[in-house]
Amino acid sequence: MNLDFDREHIWHPYTSMHGPLPVYPVRRASGVRIELEDGRQLIDGMSSWWAAIHGYNNPVLNEAVTCQLEKMSHVMFGGFTHEPAIQLAERLVQMTPDALQKVFFSDSGSVAVEVAVKMALQYQQAAGHPEKHRLLSLRSGYHGDTFAAMSVCDPVTGMHSLFSKVLPQQIFAEAPRCGFHDSCNDDCIGDFRRQLEEHHQEIAAVILEPVVQGAGGMRFYSPDYLRKARELCDCYGVLLIFDEIATGFGRTGKVFALEHAGVVPDILCLGKALTGGYMSLAVTLTTGKVASVISEAEPGVFMHGPTFMANPLACSVAVASIDLLTGVDWRKNVLDIEKELFSGLEPCRSFRGVVDVRVLGAIGVVELERPVDMALVQKLFVEKGVWVRPFGKLVYLMPPYIIASEELSILTGAVCDVAGYIAERDF
Ligand code: PMP
Repeated sequence: MNLDFDREHIWHPYTSMHGPLPVYPVRRASGVRIELEDGRQLIDGMSSWWAAIHGYNNPVLNEAVTCQLEKMSHVMFGGFTHEPAIQLAERLVQMTPDALQKVFFSDSGSVAVEVAVKMALQYQQAAGHPEKHRLLSLRSGYHGDTFAAMSVCDPVTGMHSLFSKVLPQQIFAEAPRCGFHDSCNDDCIGDFRRQLEEHHQEIAAVILEPVVQGAGGMRFYSPDYLRKARELCDCYGVLLIFDEIATGFGRTGKVFALEHAGVVPDILCLGKALTGGYMSLAVTLTTGKVASVISEAEPGVFMHGPTFMANPLACSVAVASIDLLTGVDWRKNVLDIEKELFSGLEPCRSFRGVVDVRVLGAIGVVELERPVDMALVQKLFVEKGVWVRPFGKLVYLMPPYIIASEELSILTGAVCDVAGYIAERDF
């Protein structure tokens, strides 16, 4: 494998073209194991960024792709429809809250967020409120890397300063301070309330990640916050968008994180684990009301239509992935993972330099005082036979749901060893 070519010509996520950190060549992956070109096997702790919930090379998902491949890999969605799209939409309408009836397919999570933002803006315009053209978002939030998505990411840790001249200026409320098990008091929702009171005339929608703020800090917060947010949005004629691109399909212990709160958004974004991590596909669901208002006013259509909309291969594998998930006792698997993450990561709590250890569903987080030395830490994990990729101060695990107890204890053991090593070396 020509790694020199890779280093010279290929951009990896969030990297420089000058002296990028090493990348590890992968030969194949199966179950929870990723095999490197040199034959080393790594136990996967990342599910390829929340996506590969069933692990890799799953025979049922493989079969869904190959079966569809023999029929057609793609056909334009303008003027055509097909069975995989219909089957997937049926499942999504059935699994999500009753009010969410209309399904818009797109190619990636960021695009699903763009679509959600466009829906909200087009809705307010059609409803006679063109002045409602801004979004209210939460600090420490993350919603993707395209422009509208970037504009609602945390203004400090996101990319606002780089693109300030072109990014739409959105409004931000403090990140929720209430813990997952707390109730959310007036103080905690206070800033959110104030922002709405002050700016509601110009706010089209609120966008947030329910219960778990992912790439913006791996923070968990109270479902009660969502109930209060819903009430406030209703009170001020503002739509509520839930970005469940990371949390969807069981990761937090519920199929969707919104179920912790029993709150129904006006618009819901899904992606990542939608296809079991097989390929890129995302979806934006909305209510009959939002769809009708958009459809009844000029121009009478929703203005978006990507080339690979509802790609049949991706829809087929998504249908198979959902059936695989709902066909087994995935709740027990996630609950078992949660228990083992609790006990396995607990020793880290006593290490110097560890600020917090937190677990929810199949997500385990060790938060450090300072950012890790990525090159070193990545190497240490690979040497221990695991794939764990920290970012900033966060070392975290979100394994495939099929992981066995012994494999998970190797992962948590490796995180404890590496956190212990950092404590000894740096503190
Ligand atoms: N929203 C959330 C909550 C995410 O975690 C991500 C991806 N990390 C995105 C949106 C963007 O998805 P994608 O990378 O597929 O564009």
